[in-house]
Amino acid sequence: MINQYLDMSFQALFNVVPSPMLLVSDSGHVIQANPAAQLLLGYSLETIIGLEVELLIPQRYREHHRHYREAFIKNSETRPMGNSAVLSVLTQDGKELEVNISLSPLQDGSHSCTLVTLNIADRRRQAEEALRISEERLRYAREAANLGVFDLDANFNILYWDDRMHELWGLGPNSNVNHKQLLSAIHPEDLASRQAALDHAADPHGSGRYHAEYRVTSFKDGSEHWVTAMGRVHFHDGHPVRLIGVARDITEQRALEKELQKQRAEAEHVFTQQVAVQTASAIAHELNQPLAAISAYSEVAMHALESGSVDGSKLKRALEGCVEQAHRAGNSLHELLAFLQKGDLIKDRLDINEAVKEALSIAKSSGFDNFHTTLNLEKNIRPVHANRTHVTKILVNLLRNAVEAMQGPNITTAAITIKVHTNAEVNMAHVSVQDYGPGLNPEIAKRIFEPFFTTKPSGIGLGLVVSRSLAEANGGQLWVEPDNKPGATFHFTLPFAT
Ligand code: ADP
Repeated sequence: MINQYLDMSFQALFNVVPSPMLLVSDSGHVIQANPAAQLLLGYSLETIIGLEVELLIPQRYREHHRHYREAFIKNSETRPMGNSAVLSVLTQDGKELEVNISLSPLQDGSHSCTLVTLNIADRRRQAEEALRISEERLRYAREAANLGVFDLDANFNILYWDDRMHELWGLGPNSNVNHKQLLSAIHPEDLASRQAALDHAADPHGSGRYHAEYRVTSFKDGSEHWVTAMGRVHFHDGHPVRLIGVARDITEQRALEKELQKQRAEAEHVFTQQVAVQTASAIAHELNQPLAAISAYSEVAMHALESGSVDGSKLKRALEGCVEQAHRAGNSLHELLAFLQKGDLIKDRLDINEAVKEALSIAKSSGFDNFHTTLNLEKNIRPVHANRTHVTKILVNLLRNAVEAMQGPNITTAAITIKVHTNAEVNMAHVSVQDYGPGLNPEIAKRIFEPFFTTKPSGIGLGLVVSRSLAEANGGQLWVEPDNKPGATFHFTLPFAT
């Protein structure tokens, strides 16, 4: 009776102890496993009973374990296995777990077995260890990439800035920095595009992605660094609550890019000047002869008039000569323009949305990159029939002008909106490029399509003339909407491919 009672309480105790326990026979087979052990090792009671214990440890330790077990049976006494060293057990799905194991021999009459207790306190240690390793990895990766980590609240106040962020701003590791100080170190010209990127990221209808590049003046020594920051805004109930991200110093990369851009810009400038000179000389060449002839005919006519003896037929011949030469000059100019426009006018079916994206990336990689872009592209718009190079050239010219217009001191937002839609009125693809610059006053707006008209110190004044003639050569139109605030908006159309 007492034995029965004891048996019962052993079973009850065995089942409720939170530590995983196994009863193992002297032959090395599992006789019982409590629920905690079943859970830890991933076996059901039916599958674990009868299992050789060596199957519960990784293959590489099995042979050694068999010898150890046989020695233990011969000389059994309670002991923690491996002097609390960490041992590995194998779960049913092949995972290795590190545990402390203690062994307690049990004797009941002629029956003997061993109670094996797996010390699950190690699971927490393992979790902590895994966390420590993963944090360490993250730290090494951050250090290797020289990344700073930031965490801002809904109003972009700092919740957390790591040491590297402080370093980027030229501050000591534990210095307290507030939003105002953070902003005061950012170059005034970059504040607008940074703000536009933040506003864009905080838009609940957007992706939440944040990316901005700006200059930071170090509090330590006043040196200027380019910083790129990337992150993601987290939303709660449709409201932005946090912005977490990383930042990196890209000063060297920027310096290299700038040098490259300078070289490219110089080459382009020289090239444009050469084209302008060549075009002007070609025009002069074509006009020289007819103009000289017109001047000669006019002199003859004037002589005739001055001499008082007007010979009607002579005068008529001179004036006919003028008209003929004027026509000739006109034809020559047309031919010249036709020749210049002919170039490589291979027209293709073109995805205008893709062309916009391509032009943006060309503009950005050519140094016109300090602005935020909003794309409003009509999905699945029909392909246009146009020359790819021409369309890119038009877009890059418009983007370059927009960026240059936003470089003034009073510009608060450096942003460009590009819209693409079907203009049902003319049945064409309609592209508009709107900037946040000062716009155009009506006097200037009247003249911007005149060749060589420019308000820029190093401008040539051919960009818009060329863009308009390219749009026309492709069957479209290009025009400006000067007071569509904010800034200026340029539009162009292109015919759809049939
Ligand atoms: P350039 O850029 O060499 O001056 P363009 O033909 O491209 O030649 O432009 C002519 C002029 O038109 C510019 O000098 C400028 O005054 C004006 N302009 C062009 N685009 C814009 C714009 N987005 N905002 C304000 N002014 C502009």
